[in-house]
Amino acid sequence: MEQTGALFVVSGPSGVGKGTIIKNALERLSGRDDIQVALSVSVTTRAPRPGEIDGVHYHFISREQFFELLEKGELLEYTKYAGNYYGTPVKEVEDRVRRGVHVLLDIETAGAMEVKKNWPQAVLCFILPPSMEELERRLRARGTETEESIARRLEIAENERAKAHLYDYQILNDTLEEAVDQLVNVLLSWNQKKGKREAN
Ligand code: ADP
Ligand code: 5GP
Repeated sequence: MEQTGALFVVSGPSGVGKGTIIKNALERLSGRDDIQVALSVSVTTRAPRPGEIDGVHYHFISREQFFELLEKGELLEYTKYAGNYYGTPVKEVEDRVRRGVHVLLDIETAGAMEVKKNWPQAVLCFILPPSMEELERRLRARGTETEESIARRLEIAENERAKAHLYDYQILNDTLEEAVDQLVNVLLSWNQKKGKREAN
C-alpha cells in the first residue's frame, strides 16, 4: 500500500496571515484519524521574535551553521529574505512523507518555485491580502517588526503578489475562518485522492 504524504506549500506576503491560518488549520485537523498533517520547521539566521521558541517556530542558527547545512545538501530549498537566510531541512520532510504524513511548508515564492521544480507533485497555495493597506495594518498590528523591516517586507510583498497566478490555489484571507476553511478543504481533498489511489 502506498504510504506517501503530499507536500503543501503556503506562500504569501509577510503579515498576510500564513502562520495564523496554518495554526488554525492544524488545530482543526488534529483530532481526525483519517489525515495527518505536520508543519515543517525551517532553519533561519533571523533573530527570534519575542515569544518565538527554538525548534517550534524555527531552528535559529548562525550563518556558519546555515552554510554547513547547505553544503552538506541537507536543505530541500533555501532563500535569502530581507537580509536573512531561511531553508527547509530535507530529512524531516522526507521522513514524514514516507510515513504518510502531509507536510506544510510556510515559505516565500522563490523557495516555492524551487520546491515545485524538485518535487512537481507539491500543491502550491498562495494567501492573498484583501488590500495592501490591510496588509500593512496587519504587519504593524503584529508588533514584531521595526519600521525598516516593515518597509522591506511591503516592498517584497509587491513582487510576491505578482507570483500568485503560478500557484495551484489562491486563498483570500479576509475573514480568517473562511481562509482556514479553504486551506482545510485543499488538504482534505488531496488526502481523499491519496486514499483513492491506495484503495485501487
Ligand atoms: P504571516 O505568517 O503571513 O507573516 P501572521 O499569521 O503572523 O502572518 O499574521 C499577521 C497578523 O495579522 C497577526 O497579528 C494576525 O493575528 C493577523 N491576522 C491574520 N489573519 C487575519 C485576518 N483574517 N483578519 C485580521 N487580522 C488577521
Ligand atoms: P518571517 O521572518 O516573517 O518568519 O519569514 C519571512 C518569509 O520567509 C516568509 O515569507 C516565510 O514564508 C519565509 N520562509 C520561512 N521559512 C522559509 C524557508 O525555509 N524557505 C523559504 N524559501 N522561505 C521561508
